[in-house]
Amino acid sequence: MNPTDLKKPIHVMKFGGTSVATPSLIQNAAQRIADRRKSGVHVVCVVSAMGDTTDNLMSLARQISERPPNRELDVLLSAGEVQSMALLSMALQEIGIAARSFTGSQGGIRTDTQHSEARILHIDPDRIVSALAKDEVVVLAGFQGHDERDEITTLGRGGSDTSAVAMAAALGAELCEILTDVTGVYSADPRIVDGARQIESLGYDEMLEMANLGARVLHGRSVEMARRFEVPLVVASSTRNTPGTRIVGKETDMEKVEIRAVTDDRNVKKISLVSVPDTPGVAANIFGALGELGVNVRLIVQAQSHAGNNDITFVVPGDTHIDQQQLDDLVKQVGGENWIVDERIALLNIIGEGISREPGIAGSIFRILADQQINLDLISSSNLVITCVVSEEDLVRGTRALHEGLIETDAS
Ligand code: ADP
Ligand code: ASP
Ligand code: MG
Repeated sequence: MNPTDLKKPIHVMKFGGTSVATPSLIQNAAQRIADRRKSGVHVVCVVSAMGDTTDNLMSLARQISERPPNRELDVLLSAGEVQSMALLSMALQEIGIAARSFTGSQGGIRTDTQHSEARILHIDPDRIVSALAKDEVVVLAGFQGHDERDEITTLGRGGSDTSAVAMAAALGAELCEILTDVTGVYSADPRIVDGARQIESLGYDEMLEMANLGARVLHGRSVEMARRFEVPLVVASSTRNTPGTRIVGKETDMEKVEIRAVTDDRNVKKISLVSVPDTPGVAANIFGALGELGVNVRLIVQAQSHAGNNDITFVVPGDTHIDQQQLDDLVKQVGGENWIVDERIALLNIIGEGISREPGIAGSIFRILADQQINLDLISSSNLVITCVVSEEDLVRGTRALHEGLIETDAS
């Protein structure tokens, strides 16, 4: 059966870890789903593991093995979401709603073979559509799938958002709601900045930058997928009935440049290759080698050349595995002097479409940081974002000052 043969529209409702952390929160989620179903739609809910379950499972694995085998780690971590899906399905049945839970694999989520960071290749939602046709609520375990060998895979931390959007795309859902412990997407992390404002709606591109640059409220890949398949996406509270934030294709003000958010990301480290020859092909060799090591490079800065040599610096995610031997080999391969790794840095990002073409914005940003005596280590800019690399201890102060100076002072 095809999803388009169903008589009612489909809503995907994703509940994050803190929103299913206790039995009473699971019951709250069930009630919310029941209410939605009453409004005349089919509901597919996607669940994360309860509270800190994923962290706790990870720590159990590390107590057994310093480097747990990837396959077994995925089997273990996937258990968190399996626990939630069964409990939510029970809670629904307890209040008289027909429901059925599905693991990622039972829900037809096929991924590549890359354990712990698997990508979704294809979804075969047959079983899910059959359950919906019987008017059952579907409860799907987020964050997991299965590969071509039928091995369990996981999608990377925070990946349940991506499961939800992918399923919404595969089913042609009318709405995909990410229900969480904040009331929507804010102009900064509301846990850090008291004056952070909820954003009513923002474009996929701006949201994608925010997600990739520290606003963990949405998994970056979920936004990418929502944009690609034009999935109507809303971030809202799991416990309060407030409107939330809509992520949309296009904003209405055609050319207005507006600073939308300041995000902070401390989960990064900086690697500098010192005094490498300033000749064609060096950067290609460096980043080619890093690509082969599977290193995901976030920002690259090449300093001015001095006496035929220069420094090449790049920022990578904090959990990147690159050891001393690999760095020694890299420096040797390109004829450089040495390398330096700095883990005590962080990214401060100012986001808004058209931001770097608007005269004066960069100056205001740097003035605000200078007034705070915050030193800028590196700077990069694009049409959507200006990123400042600062020392980790300046991150919170810098985030608050930028938010206050750029967003709170804007009366609109
Ligand atoms: P879930 O468990 O529901 O997936 P997450 O912890 O992954 O929830 O994401 C929600 C958290 O994201 C919030 O508690 C908030 O602290 C954080 N966050 C960071 N930046 C932002 C932002 N700009 N807007 C909203 N929340 C943000
Ligand atoms: N439970 C997983 C995690 O903690 C996936 C998720 O919550 O989205 O990362
Ligand atoms: Mg999350």
